[in-house]
Amino acid sequence: MTAEAARKSLPLIFAAPRRGKPPAHLADLDEAQRKAAVQQAGQPAFRADQLARHYYGGLTRIADEMTDLPAAGRGEFVDALLPELLTEVRSISCDAGDTRKTLWRAHDGTLIESVLMRYPDRITLCVSSQAGCGMACPFCATGQGGLQRNLSTAEIVEQVRLAAAAARDGALGEPGRLSNIVFMGMGEPLANYNRVLSAVKQITAPNPHGLGISARSVTVSTVGLVPAINRLTDEKLQVRLAVSLHTPDDELRDTLVPVNDKWKVDEVLQAARRYADTTGRRVSIEYALIRDINDQPWRADLLGQLLREHLGSLVHVNVIPLNPTPGSEWDASPKPVEAEFVRRVRAQGVACTVRDTRGQEIAAACGQLAAAER
Ligand code: SAH
Repeated sequence: MTAEAARKSLPLIFAAPRRGKPPAHLADLDEAQRKAAVQQAGQPAFRADQLARHYYGGLTRIADEMTDLPAAGRGEFVDALLPELLTEVRSISCDAGDTRKTLWRAHDGTLIESVLMRYPDRITLCVSSQAGCGMACPFCATGQGGLQRNLSTAEIVEQVRLAAAAARDGALGEPGRLSNIVFMGMGEPLANYNRVLSAVKQITAPNPHGLGISARSVTVSTVGLVPAINRLTDEKLQVRLAVSLHTPDDELRDTLVPVNDKWKVDEVLQAARRYADTTGRRVSIEYALIRDINDQPWRADLLGQLLREHLGSLVHVNVIPLNPTPGSEWDASPKPVEAEFVRRVRAQGVACTVRDTRGQEIAAACGQLAAAER
């Protein structure tokens, strides 16, 4: 894009924010638009690179830390290109300080959550891609409130930038480096495809063009929007794909994951296979285990068979003990039932493990904190 065309296509960065439209941010703009926006703010184009270095490399939007920018007008300049998109409502820690959940308020009052988790070998952030979710899965707290709106690219990148800074600054105790991202917070990432993809590119681009997190350490989790999975396949990225299957049979899946009306188990697994073949990466299958609903031995056998046929060694099942949501009668399966389920899936030659549950006592199940605040 030429600079002139970029200027014309520029969002009105100085306009007052409207509901549903966050103020434009460096992370929402491409190269040419960034330069144009910097010039519109009265600075030479090369300062776009300086800002990017501070933002992606220094993980900051604090003007006073950017001493390579001229002091006069620095605050206004930085505010124009790196506006505050998310303000912290509250953070709660648990798991002896290894898990920290933050509730953020966007410019229009929208509430979103992200969860930072320390493991022995990594630090993982669970990010939101939408405020609310339109997929209406009955066991998920976010699904109950419906979709409020898509998050902007910058609102997604900001969650990661803020978490990377928090990890570096010791929010989880010892300072550490944010290494992994999972799109398992609020929302269906593939229903906000373009913005999520742009965010993934900025999360994975090396410094100073991005946050420098390895694509292989980024997981995009989906209910199984087949056309969007196919699109993602064609991007040929190295990100991990997780598919929330939750049951191997269409009859129950029509209820547990209502979008199954459109794309059946078989089609979803075919799309997953194509992803695995194209990227060379194992696909994760998410299975929230719910007592007396989807935890029967025959379902474990069927799941194992189906996955062996469709994906063979290119799959790994994550069993997630259901995190009960307020007002629901559903609960996690008893541990012996869970163990038998895992045993049967493995007996089909399919890798299967139980996800450790983090943040139970801080209502970290998808969407619970935002639901409580509302
Ligand atoms: N919409 C995407 C990503 C968000 S949820 C998806 O569905 O994949 C991330 C994972 O948490 C999904 O597998 C989802 O089904 C699961 N999940 C949601 N609510 C849960 C709950 N109460 N207990 C256990 N897992 C849950």
